[in-house]
Amino acid sequence: MPLELKNIYKVYPNGYQAISDFNLTIEDKEFIVLVGPSGCGKSTTLRMIAGLEEITHGDFIINGKRVNNLPPKDRGIAMVFQSYALYPTLTVYENMAFALDLAGFDEDVIDKRVKNTAKILGLTPYLDRLPRALSGGQRQRVALGRAIIRNAKIFLMDEPLSNLDARQRVSMRSELARIHREVGATTVYVTHDQIEAMTMASRIVCMDVGVIKQVGSPEELYFHPKNLFVAGFIGDPPMNFIVGKVENGTYISNDGFYHIDLSKFSEEQLAKINGKAITLGYRPETAVIGEEDLKGDKSEYLEMKGTVEVYEMLGDLQNVYLNVGEEKTIIKAKPEIQIVIGSEMTYFVKKTDFHFFDTNSGDAIEL
Ligand code: ADP
Repeated sequence: MPLELKNIYKVYPNGYQAISDFNLTIEDKEFIVLVGPSGCGKSTTLRMIAGLEEITHGDFIINGKRVNNLPPKDRGIAMVFQSYALYPTLTVYENMAFALDLAGFDEDVIDKRVKNTAKILGLTPYLDRLPRALSGGQRQRVALGRAIIRNAKIFLMDEPLSNLDARQRVSMRSELARIHREVGATTVYVTHDQIEAMTMASRIVCMDVGVIKQVGSPEELYFHPKNLFVAGFIGDPPMNFIVGKVENGTYISNDGFYHIDLSKFSEEQLAKINGKAITLGYRPETAVIGEEDLKGDKSEYLEMKGTVEVYEMLGDLQNVYLNVGEEKTIIKAKPEIQIVIGSEMTYFVKKTDFHFFDTNSGDAIEL
């Protein structure tokens, strides 16, 4: 079922404006993830979609019909919360059957649906168990089952994985993606975790203090962030930033540490950034250590350097924390590279891996 949010505002009774001019069209069967730091208005938006929170201004449309004033139960929406809210004294089977029972469905219809849903969720062996005899991940699946079984066309999920341990979260991420493919319901999913957003979303809506900063596929937000906020929020560890200005084809950082020769960029490209306060960004994973690892034309790379403050060996790679002038930088290094604390490291970043932002507006400048 497609959803449209047009010029939505939310002002709470205490006068706090939590959402400003929110515009989003969600296609049928999309998996939309609202992501952003705590307090940016994700839950408020989700609750307005559910009908649990009044929309102060704007239009909310389901399948072409304005439904601002439609009660939650009539919206065809199923909601899954962070706390599973299972009935502790009912079995898995009874928990899933509950809503259908209440709605007066025949027993054999209920039985068929419970068994089918349990199959999708891998819960068949646990149908007779009580919730307390299940793991966190299994309980979350029962909560999902209660949503799926109602054949809702729209699923809303508010941080559904946050009560799970790290390993369960990883496996539930791919489970949720699979379930979404099978069930095909339009899904709006709220999280503060950019990895959940990157791994599950068909499109990500990245928010900051009540406004949308960018909407796009995970790839778009990662490779083409439209502003400093999105660039800094998506990616782990986050993008490195240097603040400075461009003068006569040279990038000079404000602390004077970097004088980066930008003559590798064309006249046309330089014209877009010359004379401006520019924040330069590059991702930790784009740094190449050692000239022998440069790929293709070496003149495509800019040389950078910093002093190693500390490093973390993660097995598949190392995070290296560098002091560069008055700023900090993180780069990723292959595990076999010997890192020495206090030593100076030279590394290379391809010119196409740099992002340029107007420091004053925060907007990305596409070169
Ligand atoms: P998120 O889900 O992104 O963490 P919320 O939507 O819960 O953010 O909250 C957005 C902002 O609105 C926060 O600053 C929060 O304090 C405020 N807020 C939430 N509920 C209320 C309320 N009932 N009254 C006043 N302010 C609220």
